Amino acid sequence: MIQITMPLNFLGSVYREIRQAMIDMAEMFNLLEQPSEVSDKSGANVLNVQGGAVRFDNVRFGYDSEREILKGVTLDVPAGQTVAIVGSSGSGKSTIGRLLFRFYDVTGGSVSIDGQDVRDVTQDSLHKSIGVVPQDTVLFNDTIGYNIAYGRPDASRDDVIAAAKAARIHDFVKSLPDGYDTQVGERGLKLSGGEKQRVGIARTILKNPPILLLDEATSALDTETERSIQAQLAAMGQGRTVITIAHRLSTIADADRIVVLEKGQIVEEGRHDDLLDQNGRYARLWAQQAAEDNAA
Ligand code: ATP
Repeated sequence: MIQITMPLNFLGSVYREIRQAMIDMAEMFNLLEQPSEVSDKSGANVLNVQGGAVRFDNVRFGYDSEREILKGVTLDVPAGQTVAIVGSSGSGKSTIGRLLFRFYDVTGGSVSIDGQDVRDVTQDSLHKSIGVVPQDTVLFNDTIGYNIAYGRPDASRDDVIAAAKAARIHDFVKSLPDGYDTQVGERGLKLSGGEKQRVGIARTILKNPPILLLDEATSALDTETERSIQAQLAAMGQGRTVITIAHRLSTIADADRIVVLEKGQIVEEGRHDDLLDQNGRYARLWAQQAAEDNAA
């Protein structure tokens, strides 16, 4: 019996890891339907994260050979810093996230973490090092405890509660009829956008990755919820390297650096105030957003 269950257990954990990585990617990129286009090269090393410095060096990429989406992007994110990427819809922001996750390989240049090209390391170690907080967290038809622990299936209940407290969702969970054993998802309790996002934050806190990729919510949360979620994201970003893909500008004014992407090229970068002073692309995006917010 032991002879059979050991390999089965092993296969089970491999399956869970693959599924976890797929879900992480799918959550952010909505690509579960698509097979991954890359594989580990033979003798790939485990990624050795020192501080989590991310570098895009003259990166070129297109989903097909007809149309180049990133046209020579060079981006340095020093370990522990927060860089926000802004730009109009379709400029290539999410594509940068996909390439960091090595969902695709670049066609020119390189993407590296602490000096290691993402093509030279195992995808498993790469995916373990990057936490993705997506726009819309996928909930499974299971308990809320299971859904939070999804970031680290071996987490104890105490770990889950600590993460839930840090994500400010513990009090909500305690108020549910069955607490952490309450069924959620399609066939259970439906959670609001803000609650789902907090589950996503709690998952990522449990996973404890050195690098965070935040795909900022475009879905409308009320201002108070959004402020509080932003505060939790900022707290989670302390001591980590953070790349925020920002669809709205109001939330990224505090970033160490803001990078403005336009048609696959970086056209401006700097801090919020400096970019406003430059009165260029960012200042125009900012004014445009303010006008839209006033009209709403
Ligand atoms: P938004 O703010 O609207 O989310 P974005 O700046 O994140 O936009 P990307 O998602 O990076 O933009 O897309 C950049 C370009 O690549 C777009 O023109 C898009 O149509 C194209 N694109 C994105 N995903 C694919 C794909 N899987 N296959 C082919 N083209 C794609």
